[in-house]
Amino acid sequence: MKKYLADRTALIDASGIRKVFNLAASMKDPINFSIGQPDFDVPQPLKQIAIEAIRQGKNKYTQTGGEPELREKIAEKVTSQFAWENPSVLVASGVSGALLLSFMSLINPGDEVIIPDPYFVMYKHLVNLVGGKCVFVDTYPDFGLHPEKIADKITNRTKIIVVNSPCNPTGAVYSQNDLKAVAEIAAKNDILVLSDEIYDKYCYDAPYESMAAIYSNTLLMKGFSKSFAMTGWRLAYVAAPQHLKPIIEEMTKIQQYTFVCAPSPFQQAAIAALDYDTSDLIAGYKTRRDIAYDDLKDKFELVKPGGAFYAFVKAPAGKGTEFVEKAIKNNVLIIPGCVFSEKDTHFRLCYTTTNERIKKGIEILRKLV
Ligand code: PMP
Repeated sequence: MKKYLADRTALIDASGIRKVFNLAASMKDPINFSIGQPDFDVPQPLKQIAIEAIRQGKNKYTQTGGEPELREKIAEKVTSQFAWENPSVLVASGVSGALLLSFMSLINPGDEVIIPDPYFVMYKHLVNLVGGKCVFVDTYPDFGLHPEKIADKITNRTKIIVVNSPCNPTGAVYSQNDLKAVAEIAAKNDILVLSDEIYDKYCYDAPYESMAAIYSNTLLMKGFSKSFAMTGWRLAYVAAPQHLKPIIEEMTKIQQYTFVCAPSPFQQAAIAALDYDTSDLIAGYKTRRDIAYDDLKDKFELVKPGGAFYAFVKAPAGKGTEFVEKAIKNNVLIIPGCVFSEKDTHFRLCYTTTNERIKKGIEILRKLV
């Protein structure tokens, strides 16, 4: 079979996560702390708009860059938020789609992308797929942004710094000062920042700060998956100030020959979603964060997560996979840190389940220490 497969397939090692899912396949009604998506459903009025759009025949290709009305609305939003004049916008098939298009548009073989570690796993694999080089910045044990460490990693091949706040998998929310410090480093070296803000609605202790408000060479990515529980609808957008328009144009060109467009009927619902407030659906997540943190903190080493819906916890004896295997045998599904990191010392716990199940699951984990 090897002779049929392209060499690039070998660049993606999914063995860690596959092992976990193989083990998990035998679990009956597990306490599932693994799935990174909200446990509420798409709000009814937004569902209704998508259904109506299908009924009305909005089932054809849209413009490659997205429905003009949706793009205009996104442009208005980012203009009012960041004082960007005439921003450039692309509607993509999820932030995942946007990431692929951006890396394909920006990275030449050997170009370096700085990625704080732990990281959302897709960054690493997509950068590798397009022939780029991931340069990881170790942010253990506090999972802050560490601008000084980022500065140390800059070379003349550095093209992009990836910033993901709130962060998957750590739940870290970066302060304005840290974002400013990274922006200064990026500006000094003429580097783009790719700011993945898919968890912007999930900030529990401080208002959410956007790199887009700080640094003008920012490619901003926002998704509908987490804010509106539309993970299966495959919707997101990329926005950038006018002077970065050529990047958005190249991404749109590649979208033309890959995804073609984001799903049409759902784009109709997205127009309404931009004005739809899901804060009451998200409000309960702060309590869940508190429960998870309070129940874990005296038995495990962890930093209190400020956002997203994950806790990134040090495994006993710093053995991530070993502890995850033990947890799975006890019917609790968590993900080993090595899936999101060059280290295998932690595990990720996603607390998008009921307060009772969070308590029950953590009680089991506590007994395994
Ligand atoms: N970025 C981050 C940080 C994520 O956690 C995820 C989803 N887990 C994505 C991007 C991709 O989301 P989607 O493609 O559903 O928009």
